[in-house]
Amino acid sequence: MLSSNIAEIDKHDDQITIPTLRQGLLATSDKIIALEPAMPGVYFNAPDIELNYDVAVVCMSGGKDSFAALKRLLDIGFPKSKIEMWHHLVDGNEGSTLMDWAFIDDYCVKFSEAVGIPLYFSWLKHGFEGEMLKNDSKSHSHIIQTPEGLIELTRNNAKTDTRLKFPQQAASLQTRWCSSALKIDVGRRGITSQDRFIGKRVLFVTGERREESGNRARYNQLEPHAGDTLRKSKSPRKPRHIDAWRPVLHYSEEQVWQSLADWRLVAPVPYRLGWSRSSCQTCIFNGDRIWATIGQYFPEKLKAIADYERQFATAISRKGLTVSERAAIANPLIIDDQVALMQASHREYTLPIFLREGEAWKLPAGAFGIESSGAS
Ligand code: SF4
Repeated sequence: MLSSNIAEIDKHDDQITIPTLRQGLLATSDKIIALEPAMPGVYFNAPDIELNYDVAVVCMSGGKDSFAALKRLLDIGFPKSKIEMWHHLVDGNEGSTLMDWAFIDDYCVKFSEAVGIPLYFSWLKHGFEGEMLKNDSKSHSHIIQTPEGLIELTRNNAKTDTRLKFPQQAASLQTRWCSSALKIDVGRRGITSQDRFIGKRVLFVTGERREESGNRARYNQLEPHAGDTLRKSKSPRKPRHIDAWRPVLHYSEEQVWQSLADWRLVAPVPYRLGWSRSSCQTCIFNGDRIWATIGQYFPEKLKAIADYERQFATAISRKGLTVSERAAIANPLIIDDQVALMQASHREYTLPIFLREGEAWKLPAGAFGIESSGAS
């Protein structure tokens, strides 16, 4: 069962984000099985696909569904040598620690080393905090890590703007700006800014699941990605065939955990602490009990958010309660996993990625949880 907060995020993704990405992709196909108007290359169900791609980009958040998506890609025989992983740094890479788990970036690096698949970071300069503190100023650059090094994409044409408030717990991308500014836009520019994708067939892999909400139940499993140009124009200046594939869209949560167990991948730390999702640690959609848990075990993280609520004179919650007030009215989760708790506050990830020989896989405390703990 999902909380109404998560359902709201999903509704927003489905009604605002995905339709926006689909704009301009109009034509016909005799193979389409979809609830949307017919479009070329769109398949409502595509659990198995042809593997005739030059490269697969797997969006790697460090959460369970992104691992399951990567495993499925490998299991169906896509060559590991053609896969790369992308991870968006929510806090940027300039020193902010406001939102994300301390270890998550290094965790992705260590996972990349363990499986032998390259990982590239991309981010909005100064991250969530920098975007939130825009004050009559322009948007910061996007920074994309590529095989040749970093590229910085300035945004001189962006409008001068003021935020000085948290994203709203709302459906609109204009007001709940974090997902678009820190992830969707950054990923799209990662595709469109790199000439190495021109003339190539690229598979863009993400880990959404239909079971998560009624809205996600209507997602197409295979469709052209927003960065595709070949199906938008007859003779594009930069021809790119980019397909977006959701290989675990049809999975249940049970299948996801089974997939991680089969891989002998140790459950990621947030789930071991009791979080049902691994997204920003201080996600604006966190429930009262998660704020209470953050207050108990990570008080400096709660204080940083509370200080900004005070500075902006606006609570994140639409009900008007501050994160401190919400933490005070709920019981924190009881965290038994002291090893995971120690790791949670350290930037360097030092725990095993995979189980050692003879070790038994354990379902983490947050599996099948109902506490709202962020967007996936
Ligand atoms: S996890 Fe939460 S706070 Fe972080 S970008 Fe997503 S919606 Fe925003």
